[in-house]
Amino acid sequence: MIERIPLIAGNWKMNLDVEGSVQLVKNIVNGFGSLEGVQALVAPPFTALAAVRQAIGKSGIFLASQNMHWETDGAYTGEISGRMLQKTGCTHVILGHSERRSIFNETSEVIDLKVKAAVLLGLIPIVCVGETLEEREAGQAFEIIKKQLDASLHNFIADQLMLPSTILAYEPVWAIGTGKTATPEQAQEVHRFIREWIEENFNPGTAAQVRILYGGSVKPENIATLMSESDIDGALVGGASLNADSFLQLIHFKQK
Ligand code: PEP
Repeated sequence: MIERIPLIAGNWKMNLDVEGSVQLVKNIVNGFGSLEGVQALVAPPFTALAAVRQAIGKSGIFLASQNMHWETDGAYTGEISGRMLQKTGCTHVILGHSERRSIFNETSEVIDLKVKAAVLLGLIPIVCVGETLEEREAGQAFEIIKKQLDASLHNFIADQLMLPSTILAYEPVWAIGTGKTATPEQAQEVHRFIREWIEENFNPGTAAQVRILYGGSVKPENIATLMSESDIDGALVGGASLNADSFLQLIHFKQK
């Protein structure tokens, strides 16, 4: 059986200046210890990426950006390319976060362009999908997630290739920053659905290797039960990643 190494990823969103970011990552590095069987990742704001990369040193924590543009350079005022991010030390990029989709009107078609560009550059995309409360209550959660996957990973389907290193994140919009967490059973049901989607569109081997993170009010108190579900391979964490102590507790979830 293929073992998927759990990944705990912290999305700092538009929080912390350079000084605050460096302080936070230093506190995480100091408490990190020698971890086996778990990976950790932080996604600071663009302005702090270089300084955080330096502070990460050889600790093994991965660095991600929270977004990128699909072109490598050009007249795109205000945008940042994947190549620039890679040169800053990023190995991963979060794409299609629900805040990008809802506040900045990012469509799955745009996310698809970004996913393709990221992979061509060797950046590992963390592609987010998830339904709103309205959609869940209308019984449309699976339909919405399928639509988002079909369109956000359209280039993968056209090429019939999804790299097993690709990371997906199921983030029910109603659970993000609200304190409401999906129950482990609710999350598992969707994660299984996503894995079956990968199997149907690609192959069982890829489906067995791709990691699917859960995101939505993950905290030290609820991570262990979420992680005990067979298709939950890690967490994408907002609020609780902004505090070194709680992020370290999340990374050490096996000891809980
Ligand atoms: C997120 O923004 O991806 C997230 C899951 O946030 P929170 O953990 O604060 O709900």
